[in-house]
Amino acid sequence: MAKITYDKPIVELQGDEMTRILWDWIKEILIEPHVSLKTEYYDLGLVHRDETDDRVTFEAGEAIKRLGVGVKCATITPNEQRREEYGLKRLYPSPNGTIRAILDGTVFRTPILVKGITPYVPTWTKPITIARHAYGDVYKATDVRVVEAAKAELLVTDSAGNETKYPVFDFKGAGVLQGMHNTDRSISAFAHSCFNFALSAGKDLWFGAKDTISKVYDGRFKAIFAEIFESEFKDKFDKAGIKYEYTLIDDCVARIMRSSGGMIWACKNYDGDVMSDMLATAFGSLAMMSSVLVSPDGNYEYEAAHGTVTRHYYKYRAGEETSTNPVATIFAWSGALGRRGETENNKPLIDFAANLERATISTIESGYMTGDLASIFNAEGITPKKLNSRDFLKAIASEL
Ligand code: NAP
Ligand code: MG
Repeated sequence: MAKITYDKPIVELQGDEMTRILWDWIKEILIEPHVSLKTEYYDLGLVHRDETDDRVTFEAGEAIKRLGVGVKCATITPNEQRREEYGLKRLYPSPNGTIRAILDGTVFRTPILVKGITPYVPTWTKPITIARHAYGDVYKATDVRVVEAAKAELLVTDSAGNETKYPVFDFKGAGVLQGMHNTDRSISAFAHSCFNFALSAGKDLWFGAKDTISKVYDGRFKAIFAEIFESEFKDKFDKAGIKYEYTLIDDCVARIMRSSGGMIWACKNYDGDVMSDMLATAFGSLAMMSSVLVSPDGNYEYEAAHGTVTRHYYKYRAGEETSTNPVATIFAWSGALGRRGETENNKPLIDFAANLERATISTIESGYMTGDLASIFNAEGITPKKLNSRDFLKAIASEL
């Protein structure tokens, strides 16, 4: 059979350790037999980042802006220990942070559901996607320890030098104080990414914040979302048969718990930090969590939510077999290929991406999986068989 082709390359961002190994196997066993891959390749492995003084990361980010679709392998964010291990020139920042800043994007995380791995919340039969605003608030705040009675005020100086003071609190004794901010620009980018993602996924969008208490701050988030929705997205949402809804964050949490899932949940920075860990755990496994970075102008970068699985890599390097779960990395590839299929109206490519995901899920549902899943799998009449990574990929290939 002739291989599937497409026109515009996908940006391929290679990474580190065990996921770097899985990356090559996924291409060899699942993709290249069917698709004539056309990628612009960037090696973000730590060795090459060091050789290029991290230039490769910036170039890869710019390439995603230019070509619209990227697929990224997990990468090491170096710490002191890694600096020694790799003899690095310096401690490079997280590649995800660098690329997120270039694309000004929002990260959407969605669990991959299979029968036999039951969420802790039994009513959640459809995946819940979380969108975390990744800029500002308490993550870029000034924290102050007040050590004795003191008067705290907020001082704002505009560009003409005019000063406005706002009272914060009259301390009678010691305490703490915090100043934080966000920008209309960042909130608007977040809103655009959320609305665009909801449209492309065909799912409802919920946004929760606390504007009853934080009337100006959270009120601004609510207002920006509402303005952008009314002026740019309302008609498109109506046509797609999906809804946008703002609710108070506490009401939102209560309703999510009672729901059957299936929505996209936009969260402010802190809420997203806390709730995405809760959702990942509740749905079963970090190895089954897919992730995509969406820029406000519609560029997509797909990746797995987990890291480079270092412990397994050391075993692999020692010549031992590993049973590392490749599912989230497979879904990064299927996501990118499917997206390229959409941008080029390429039905065979869209179908291939969907079939790859279906084959992966049905392989697990028929009892063949990696060790992390075998230990939590529970479906009547099926005894889970634990396979090593390569044999698991081959099982998916024959299903495909
Ligand atoms: P990790 O690589 O996600 O692994 C943590 C543990 O979770 C593993 O040891 C393994 O548990 C389990 N696990 C994660 N993914 C798995 C998979 N696909 N299959 C089977 N088990 C899996 O996190 P980490 O150990 O904290 O970080 C390792 C490196 O990854 C670090 O250098 C970090 O900087 C980097 N990292 C990168 C990204 C990214 O690029 N997006 C994200 C997070 C971390 P067992 O050992 O019990 O089997
Ligand atoms: Mg967290």
